[in-house]
Amino acid sequence: MAQTREVVNRLASSQRLIIHGLVTPTRGRRDLDEMRRQAADLKISAWKGYTGLALGDPPRPWRVDDEKVSYPMLELSRQLGIKNICLHKGLPLQGGVEEYWHPRDLERAARDFPDLNFIVYHSAFHSLASALPLSRDEFRTSARVSWVTDLCEIRERNPNLTNIYAELGATFGQLVITSPMLCGHVLGMLLRSFGADHVLWGTDSIWWGSPQWQIEALRRFTMPDSLMTRFGYQPLTATGKAQILGLNAARLYGIDPNLRRNPVPPDYVSKLKAAYRDEDAWPSLTQYGWVLEESS
Ligand SMILES: [Zn+2]
Repeated sequence: MAQTREVVNRLASSQRLIIHGLVTPTRGRRDLDEMRRQAADLKISAWKGYTGLALGDPPRPWRVDDEKVSYPMLELSRQLGIKNICLHKGLPLQGGVEEYWHPRDLERAARDFPDLNFIVYHSAFHSLASALPLSRDEFRTSARVSWVTDLCEIRERNPNLTNIYAELGATFGQLVITSPMLCGHVLGMLLRSFGADHVLWGTDSIWWGSPQWQIEALRRFTMPDSLMTRFGYQPLTATGKAQILGLNAARLYGIDPNLRRNPVPPDYVSKLKAAYRDEDAWPSLTQYGWVLEESS
């Protein structure tokens, strides 16, 4: 990742890319050394942690509020001046331990480390399988969306806990193409509990392909009227979308959005394209994503 960042930034003679490092606090002292190396040598901008994966010695999942296991990691991060702690929450990964993907451990950790930002990847959205059935009657049977509602309640219980952020990677993409109603409900909940300045854009484009369709889908997405009536959600505004799409992350990562940056030179992209064609290009031609508009 660091090499890719260097290549892209060098090609554009501008800062176009920043990267995360990895933390696995169950590895103990070895991981603290590894954190120092990533900060000094790779100049990473944040950490990503997978609380539900049983790694380390002995292999076990971890909670970010575990004083013995995780607080040395958070203290070192603070010392190293890396303020952003990104945790995979929701979307339980295969081979992991289900309950450790729940965001409950953030409440105490965020309170104990008010100077660090806790960025909840995937907004703790559990799964389409658990949430889709609820959207069929527009959440009349239950308005709870597994783990997103729990995350929002953490914030609502703690009005001062302004250092928790909800990230949309994979979550927005899979909701907007399967159920705009569920997508609206999740966005509405997050925006009501966290505010438009605490929801971060993410696409998980490594799994979902080029992120452009997701960007366009958010730009076009409107809050369903029935959700505004029933839950009191606000309409999605252009200003709010601009915050979500980049201004919030820019603030967290200390990036000046008004700075002039160079594009990657087009002649470089043309060369790559030509080389790709020479190697018997085999494009998938798959179109990712659409927006379903339901007429009443
Ligand atoms: Zn993740």
